[in-house]
Amino acid sequence: MTRLALSRVHFPVTTLGPGRRVGIWFQGCSIHCRGCISVDTWAPGRKDTQVGALIATLAPWLGCADGVTVTGGEPFDQLGALGTLLRGLRTAFDGDLLVYSGYPRERIAGPLAGLAGLIDALITDPYVAEVGDRLPLRGSDNQRLHLLTPRGQALYARLDTPNEHAKPRALDLMVDDQGRFWMAGIPRRGDFAALQALLVREGHSVLTSEHPG
Ligand code: SF4
Repeated sequence: MTRLALSRVHFPVTTLGPGRRVGIWFQGCSIHCRGCISVDTWAPGRKDTQVGALIATLAPWLGCADGVTVTGGEPFDQLGALGTLLRGLRTAFDGDLLVYSGYPRERIAGPLAGLAGLIDALITDPYVAEVGDRLPLRGSDNQRLHLLTPRGQALYARLDTPNEHAKPRALDLMVDDQGRFWMAGIPRRGDFAALQALLVREGHSVLTSEHPG
């Protein structure tokens, strides 16, 4: 039985790939990019979950989702769990599979070969606060989109060009079971700080998951 440290799951997510998607956030990231907006996913080992049970839990969502996005945290820091999850999803689900990694593709070439055919589109490379942020689905323009299957090519090729008109970017806003707000998607540079300043002006106390940089 393969186990996975999970941060959260959600459906529908509309801002991390085409259509209405199941989002799966791995817990734990060893890369620690300066300016990361998901510092809450860095610590390893929380919410230890059995992969088969997770896929069974997701089944009602998978029945009406267009795709699944696997992100984090760093999915390739849990390579065994990632492979088991992707194989299970390929069996249980007809939609596309998009995976994020903060590692360069060259660094994960070996593991990727073992996952051949399981990932339709892969976004790689760490977040770099100093470069631009005009590319869809990415926080910084150094991050590369790899189209690994014909389906990935068909769905994602149009998302590999800068979009000058994509501001402000849409974000999915959710409330968790402890009453905390959280967002899915890729904010533009400075969006978190602007939102925080707005809420503070309105008298709210706000903590965000953004690394101070
Ligand atoms: S941006 Fe991604 S790879 Fe970088 S520290 Fe954050 S979760 Fe890890």
